[in-house]
Amino acid sequence: MNQTGKLYLVPTPIGNLEDITLRAIRVLKEVDLILAEDTRTSAPLLKHFDIHQKVYAHHQHNEHQSSNEIVKFLKEGKNIALISDAGTPAISDPGFYLVREALKNGIEVECLPGPTAFVPALVNSGFPTDRFCFEGFLPLKKGRQTRYKALADEERTLILYESPHRLLKTLDEMALYFGPGRQISVSRELTKMFEETVRGTISEVKTYFETHPVKGEFVICVAGKN
Ligand code: SAM
Repeated sequence: MNQTGKLYLVPTPIGNLEDITLRAIRVLKEVDLILAEDTRTSAPLLKHFDIHQKVYAHHQHNEHQSSNEIVKFLKEGKNIALISDAGTPAISDPGFYLVREALKNGIEVECLPGPTAFVPALVNSGFPTDRFCFEGFLPLKKGRQTRYKALADEERTLILYESPHRLLKTLDEMALYFGPGRQISVSRELTKMFEETVRGTISEVKTYFETHPVKGEFVICVAGKN
């Protein structure tokens, strides 16, 4: 009987290429096929590490359709690695659906440990790390207010992803729902040349970013309520 293949989820650097693991490089060189969120974005990374496997696109617009095809390959015995543009696949990135489909079909799944933006942001914040609540991106419109209301009394440290063009507006909304005096920590450009973490009350951090460039990628950590 044909032995099924294995699905690997392989984290890639969120900025600094030195953060890729030795095992990630080995697995990416050994699999039969790599699935990338954006093949053009991943091409320089794969080239840098001398990885020349076949690369197919697997992104949020085709993941349902492409998952059926991938499960077929896995069942035929192919080993497949999923990578995203940066960080750990399935963390605010495509992956969850494919993992669920693979498991439903009795396929072994293994996520390698590696880079992800929320862990360094949480640890840098200085807020309690024993219990935290990862919210990823808040919904853009519908449901955003409801989510803020639900999170206002959360006692665990909150972690959110945010885009640069929405940061100031989000800080305004947080001041409204969590109170302007709540402590937050905003990390930007983690592992990159202009990495910085700004800590203070919501209004202090907002004032800082009103006078400094709001550029790059951001993680917001919010201290839990008391
Ligand atoms: N899969 C990724 C991970 O494991 O963190 C997250 C992908 S999500 C599409 C992209 C968001 O992650 C960005 O908008 C930002 O909030 C956060 N992010 C990614 N890289 C970052 C970095 N170097 N510094 C700060 N935040 C980052």
